[in-house]
Amino acid sequence: MPRLHREISLSIYRWATARKRARLMSTFEEQKMFPASILFYHRVASHQMNAWSIKTGNFERQLDWILANTSPASLDQIRDTQLIGSRDKPQVAVTFDDGYGENCEHAIPALLERQIPCTYFVATHFIETGSAFPHDQACGIPLRPNTVAEIKQMANLGIQIGAHSHTHVDFGRPLSDSELRFEITDVRKRLQDWTGQSIDYFAFPFGLKRNISQEAIDVVFESGFKSFVSAAGGMNQPGQDANHLQRIHGDPGMASLKNWLTFDPRKWKAKSSIEYDFRINHSSALSKA
Ligand SMILES: [Zn+2]
Repeated sequence: MPRLHREISLSIYRWATARKRARLMSTFEEQKMFPASILFYHRVASHQMNAWSIKTGNFERQLDWILANTSPASLDQIRDTQLIGSRDKPQVAVTFDDGYGENCEHAIPALLERQIPCTYFVATHFIETGSAFPHDQACGIPLRPNTVAEIKQMANLGIQIGAHSHTHVDFGRPLSDSELRFEITDVRKRLQDWTGQSIDYFAFPFGLKRNISQEAIDVVFESGFKSFVSAAGGMNQPGQDANHLQRIHGDPGMASLKNWLTFDPRKWKAKSSIEYDFRINHSSALSKA
């Protein structure tokens, strides 16, 4: 469906389900059980657009809507309310994946200006070498990744840096123990050296259930991360596992963002209870809280 048609039909759907949404909101408010939504973006730019880019003006409009209608939060704040088991505001976090150079021109200044917290997940191989991400090479538009200096500068400005593997590997395919440590443990150490920050969150590349393995989760927690994040479209209900935070795609546009963040009853029913059958070693995970 063309984008404009999709935006219009989503807006009509949101209007048609307004009463159901209002009922959900008042239940969350009464019970202090607002879910938290974690958005993920990749690239904010005004040219060479692809499916994982959002235009500068659209991104800024999304940030302004988030500021006016939700409670912007860091991943740590969301993790804390997951652990407490109640939430009296609809918290929304902003995250980025991969590490695109152009984000320093528009996205990061827009977030800093509005004082919206952000976690910025990077795949370190591309930051170190300057080579384009495989998904950009595949579609013939090799875009510039961030540099190490930019990552350091972002960290100094208060952006939380997170790990997104070294080579943007798919953890759904078989990997040896040494490959897992190269892609997870070594990346945490490298990012801590660059930034002087504790690197507490790991974002699985591609982020769907099929791109995450039990072996990789074990190495994530053994390496000292607090939590990992996925990208399958779920929200985070208070009391659900704080070691795994679920994220929503922010790129598709304003109508889609409003549809998610005003608690689409259909999505709520389908996605709020995504079941992951991964085991998390709670003693090692929570001791690092
Ligand atoms: Zn990625």
